[in-house]
Amino acid sequence: MTMRKILAANFKTNHTRASTRAYVKALDEGMGAMGYEEEVYLFPPATALDRFETANDIRVGAQNAYPTVKGSFTGEIGLEQLEEFGIETVLLGHSERRHLLGESQSFIANKFAWFKERDFRIIYCIGEPLEVREEGDEAVRRYLVEQFEGIDTSYEKLILAYEPVWAIGTGKTATPELIETTHAQIKQLSDAPLLYGGSVKPANIADILAVPGCDGALIGTASWEVESMLSMLSQVKGQK
Ligand code: PEP
Repeated sequence: MTMRKILAANFKTNHTRASTRAYVKALDEGMGAMGYEEEVYLFPPATALDRFETANDIRVGAQNAYPTVKGSFTGEIGLEQLEEFGIETVLLGHSERRHLLGESQSFIANKFAWFKERDFRIIYCIGEPLEVREEGDEAVRRYLVEQFEGIDTSYEKLILAYEPVWAIGTGKTATPELIETTHAQIKQLSDAPLLYGGSVKPANIADILAVPGCDGALIGTASWEVESMLSMLSQVKGQK
């Protein structure tokens, strides 16, 4: 199946409500000016979630949510808060939630099943830490298989993101060869579109997206300035 590349921007704990609004406006105008026709996913912080009126296909998603409609889960947001803004996409399994915030595979799998049940689009992140990468391809494969435990890899609204932990926010990008090998391993486990994430930026996005089996990119740091995001969109426009 050939499809256009998918780009997604993860703001993490950056941007305010006001700056997110300005960003979405500039992104929408920039997409219109370059005739960018594909969907773009945008994950602002929870405080900046909103219903944005845009001319182009900008899909705002939640970086995290708790598997509940509402309830007593201090510091979390649930379905009621997402529905207020028509949010239908959630990012799950990001390495910062796994490693900094201690989310276990079984908890992530619970969230996955819960949001799948409610028909959400799920961008599901997997990726190995440096010590596993240093053990070689087979160790990486085993690690990634474990990150699929409890996950419905044939869910039709699933998008995968392979993000080696050692390449996230570090400026160290995986080589095209390594991305190709690992994406091929992952594609044996799921037919879902597969993004790459880890220090993607305007200077390397063209090379990364030219890798066979790379269906798009999940971008952190380099997505936070709208000019940088637009530069990446312009390089990807129309590419299959
Ligand atoms: C991310 O957080 O998903 C990510 C890929 O970050 P960065 O682009 O900053 O490496």
